[in-house]
Amino acid sequence: MKLSFHGADRAVTGSCHLAEVHGLRILIDCGLFQGGREIDEENAADFGFDPADIDILLLTHAHLDHCGRIPLLVRRGFRGEIITTPATRELARVVLLDSAHLQEEEAERRSRKAHRRGQRGAAPLYGELDALNAMDLFGRKARYGVPLELSDGVRATFEDAGHILGSASIRLEYRDGGARRAVIFSGDLGNSGRPILRDPTSLAHAETVVMETTYGDRDHKPLAPSVQELYAAINETLERGGNAIIPTFALERAQELLYHLREGVEQGVLPRTLPVYLDSPMAISATEIFRHHPECYDAEAKALFDRGDDPFALPGLRFTRETAASMALNRITGGAVIMAGSGMCTGGRVRHHLRHHLWRQESSIIFVGFAAPGTLARILIDGAEHVRLFGDDIRVRAQRHTINGFSAHADRDELLAWHRAIQPEQTILVHGEEKAMQAFAGQLADTQVLMPRQGETIDL
Ligand SMILES: [Zn+2]
Repeated sequence: MKLSFHGADRAVTGSCHLAEVHGLRILIDCGLFQGGREIDEENAADFGFDPADIDILLLTHAHLDHCGRIPLLVRRGFRGEIITTPATRELARVVLLDSAHLQEEEAERRSRKAHRRGQRGAAPLYGELDALNAMDLFGRKARYGVPLELSDGVRATFEDAGHILGSASIRLEYRDGGARRAVIFSGDLGNSGRPILRDPTSLAHAETVVMETTYGDRDHKPLAPSVQELYAAINETLERGGNAIIPTFALERAQELLYHLREGVEQGVLPRTLPVYLDSPMAISATEIFRHHPECYDAEAKALFDRGDDPFALPGLRFTRETAASMALNRITGGAVIMAGSGMCTGGRVRHHLRHHLWRQESSIIFVGFAAPGTLARILIDGAEHVRLFGDDIRVRAQRHTINGFSAHADRDELLAWHRAIQPEQTILVHGEEKAMQAFAGQLADTQVLMPRQGETIDL
C-alpha cells in the first residue's frame, strides 16, 4: 500500500490522506483548510492528485476541516462513492450546505468590492449545487464494527471515535503477498467521560496507524468542575440581572451544553424556568439530527431516550431559527442564557449579541471552546478593554469567563492509551501543530514514528 498526505500535515486543518492499494484509490477525508488569510489560496489549490481518479472516499466525521472540500472534489471530477456512518451523512449535509452558502456570500462580498475598483469579480470555491451534487455520491452506510468490502480483499471497518456524533476511526485491511495487513486512520479521537457519546473504542492490533495529535502535548482539565463553573457563571449573571452569552460551536458543543443545562435544572442548581435560547440554525438542525441517532449514545443518554425523555430538552428552551426571532432577543435585557455561533466569534449571530451585551457589566460572556489566535473570542479572552464590532468601538464591561474542560478531543494520556492498545510497528502523526507532534512522538516507544509533510508519499 502507498499512502500520500494532502492536508493536516504538521497542521490541524484540511485533513486528506490517500491510500492506493491493488489498483484502488481510497481517500480518507477531504477537509477544508481553516484560519489565516493565505488559506483561501490553499483551499483553491490542486489537491495533489486527480479527483477523477479517486474510487472511494471514506469520511471519518462531519467537521468542516474533515469534509469541507468534498464539494470542490466533486466539482473537479470526483464521481466515486462516499462511505460514512448514517449520523455523519446527515450532519455532513447540513455542514456542506452551510459552507456552500458562506462561500457564495463571501465571493459576492468580494466581487462587489472588486467591481468598485474596476476589477473582475471572485468566484466561490464552490456553491450550493456542488454541495448537492456531493450528497448524491453518498453510497453505502457504515455501521460501527461491521466490515465493508471495498474491492477484492480490501475491507474498511468504521469504529466509534467518540469525538462528535457519528465520528469514526477507520481500519483498512488489505492483502500483502500472503499476509493480511491493516492500517488504522484515527480520525479525530474524543475525550473520554463526556456526556451523550461513548468513549472511543479501543482497537485491536494494526501494523500501521495514522493518528491525530491535536492535544499530543497536554492534558485537559476534568469535566465535572468545569460544569460547576458553568452553573456558577450563569447563576451570578442572573443575580446581577444580565444575560449570559455563550459563543458555541454548532456540532456537539451546543448539544453537550444543552445536556449539562438540563442536568443543572434537574438537580435544582439552575432555576427550573431558566430561559435558554439556541440562536443558531445550524445548531438547531444538528440537535434535531442528534435526536435521530440514539444508536450513537452512551448508556446514560440512551437510558434517558428509552425512558421517553429528551436528553436535549429543558423547560425554558427556545429555538430561534428565523432572523426576526433572533433579533427579538435584543429586547431581553436580563435573566436568559443565549447560545449562538460562531464559537470563535468570527461571524454569525453571536456578534450581534456581543454588540448588545459586551458594554453591560451585569451581563457575561462565557467561553467554552477553543479560540484560535487572532479571533474575536481570543481577543476577548485575553482581556481586551475595547473591541470594534460592526464599525463601532465598544467598551468591554461584561464579565468574562473562560471554562476549559469541555474539549471534544482526546488529551495526551488518552491518545497514548488508544495508541498503546494497537501496538503498531509504524506510527504516522498528522493533524497537530508541529510542537504538539514532536512532544507526542517523544512519548512513543517500540514504534517507528513518521511526520509526513504535505505531498509526501510513504510506501508501507
Ligand atoms: Zn473534528
